[in-house]
Amino acid sequence: MTCEMCGVDGALQKAEVEGVEMSVCASCASHGTKVQRQKYTQVTAGAHYQQSDEQIHPDYAKILTNARAASGKKQEELAQSLNLKTSVWQHFESGKRKPSIETARKLERALGVTLVVKFQVGDVNVKASGGKMTMADFMKKKN
Ligand SMILES: [Zn+2]
Repeated sequence: MTCEMCGVDGALQKAEVEGVEMSVCASCASHGTKVQRQKYTQVTAGAHYQQSDEQIHPDYAKILTNARAASGKKQEELAQSLNLKTSVWQHFESGKRKPSIETARKLERALGVTLVVKFQVGDVNVKASGGKMTMADFMKKKN
């Protein structure tokens, strides 16, 4: 058995690191959390994470057009029910204007669609749950 954190062979013990149970050597168990946090920072920096990992779905115009079609409402009617100007809604449907995250949230609730998606960088996927990537996930990717 090898330590899941540093790879050293030897006697292992269970330690909870960032909410994940890992089998680690005594050395890592004693200061594992500290090592973990340093590595985690490097991982996120290396992946060029942005402050916000949310963005508007690239097909938002199609999604909104389809949602309105499904509702059977006219552009003016739907815009009014959402407290939006008709011109604003028309720009959303035509893709001329991208809704803000805040507005998209409102549209999601009102229309039952998904407009806000999680940002993804390379092969490091941020979980859809909004959870932070753990070191364990990172190491699985690497190994
Ligand atoms: Zn170790």
